[in-house]
Amino acid sequence: MTDKSIQVILGDITKCKADAVVNAANTTLLGGLGVDGAIHRAAGMGLFWECLRLGGCKIGQARITGGHRLPAEFIIHTPGPKWKGGRRGEVLLLESCYRSSLALAEEHGCRSVAFPSISTGSYHFPLDQAAEIAVRAISEFLQCSRYVKEVRMVCFDPVAERAYREALKKRNSKEEQVHGRCIRKA
Ligand code: ADP
Repeated sequence: MTDKSIQVILGDITKCKADAVVNAANTTLLGGLGVDGAIHRAAGMGLFWECLRLGGCKIGQARITGGHRLPAEFIIHTPGPKWKGGRRGEVLLLESCYRSSLALAEEHGCRSVAFPSISTGSYHFPLDQAAEIAVRAISEFLQCSRYVKEVRMVCFDPVAERAYREALKKRNSKEEQVHGRCIRKA
C-alpha cells in the first residue's frame, strides 16, 4: 500500500482535478440539491443529457459519465441511502456506494478519485459513522486495486473534514496494529 493514499481535504469537489469525481446523486441521476446540484451546474447541460440516457440508478450502485465542463475526466454517480435509523441496510448500502464507484474508476483506468461525503447532507447519515464506513471501504479497495492509487475525500466544511481525518487516523492506527501483529508472527 506504500504507493497508495487516502487524503482528506477541505474544498469544492467541482474544482477537483482528479481523474474521476464522484457525485452523491439521487436515483434519477438528473440533478438535485447539495453537491449533486453543484456538479450538474458546473458540468453543464451536456451532463444532464448524458444522465438522461442512463435511465436512473439504484441506491448503492454507480454509473459513469464524462466530466463535461468539470476538470475531471469522468463523473461517477452514486445514489446514497437516506438515513432511516440504521436498520434498513443503510450501512451496507453506503459501503456499496464507495465500492461500486471505485470499481467503475478502476475499470476506466483512473489513478485518482475524489469523493464527497455521501449521504451526510440532506440524507442525514450520521457523519462519524459515514466517515468510518467510507475510510474502511476505500482502504480495503486500495489493498487490491491496480490503477486507483489516490483517493481524496473532499469535505465542504471543517466539521466534515475533522470527522474524516479522525476516521482516517483510527483506521491507520488499526492497520499498524494488524501489521505489527503480522510481523511478530512471522
Ligand atoms: P446527500 O443527499 O447524499 O446527503 P448532499 O449533497 O446533501 O448529499 O450532502 C453531501 C455532502 O456534500 C455534505 O457534506 C455537503 O456539505 C457536501 N457538499 C455540498 N456541496 C459540495 C461541493 N461543492 N463539494 C464538496 N462537497 C459538497
